[in-house]
Amino acid sequence: MSRTSHPALAGVPLIGAHVPASGGLAKRGLAYADAVGAECLQVFVTNPRGWAATKGNAEQDAAFREVVTERLPAFVHASFLINLGSPDQSIAEKSATSLAHTVERARVIGARGVVVHTGSAVAKGRYDEAMTQVRELLLPLLDALPDDAPPVLLEPTAGQGQSLCSTLEELDEYLHRLEHHPRLGICVDTCHFFAAGHDLAADGGMNDFLDHLEKVRAGVPVGLVHANDSMDVAGARKDRHQAIGSGHVGSEPFRALLAHETMQHVPVVIETPGDEAEHAADVALLQSLR
Ligand SMILES: [Zn+2]
Repeated sequence: MSRTSHPALAGVPLIGAHVPASGGLAKRGLAYADAVGAECLQVFVTNPRGWAATKGNAEQDAAFREVVTERLPAFVHASFLINLGSPDQSIAEKSATSLAHTVERARVIGARGVVVHTGSAVAKGRYDEAMTQVRELLLPLLDALPDDAPPVLLEPTAGQGQSLCSTLEELDEYLHRLEHHPRLGICVDTCHFFAAGHDLAADGGMNDFLDHLEKVRAGVPVGLVHANDSMDVAGARKDRHQAIGSGHVGSEPFRALLAHETMQHVPVVIETPGDEAEHAADVALLQSLR
């Protein structure tokens, strides 16, 4: 473990939460993380449903950076609107601009990765065209990143519509198209992969999934796990997160995830519904399964 990791937790996956930051990245975000018992965190640095290139507040940025580099590893989630595969050229361009802005903000605040969804072709029959576009927009962006910028963590989606990457087979192809670029990483969302058809709740399902992922990632690191239960059954292709242990995944697969040898240095954050008390309960439950 590096000296910046939580000293009491060497060798086990850190468990934390997505935290709100309206009211100040440090003032609200760090306070929320501490209130829910988080050992790591994820935040938005822009409106998650907008395109605005929100500027930071220098004082909050500095206070946040000091804490997250010392004891509370942080990740940034990019806007949900980003779709590098969009057939609408203005959306595709705004997506690339927004992602570049978000990575720069993440660099400034000391975050360890920027999570971005793998996107959608939107219309049927344009997978190749969409993937060519993702490649043409993303590779130059990655090539231009300064050395101290965090990696871009690709998060496969639940498989809605003309999703470009939801299953491990699709992730394999997606990573090949992006040449396993050294500035890329992967963000595994348990609800998304379950919804996409990987039955993590089956006997040995989580271990099988993680063993398969280990082959597919071909050296691209898993940077973060989004631990979310699912309101819907495996293969439903619906992105509806549920509290840990209260959905169709159940709590045991999370015990298996936290024990898997490939996951011991991968931070885990919840993105479950609910308020501060419910988030604290989810974090505590995962910590008890670890
Ligand atoms: Zn997620």
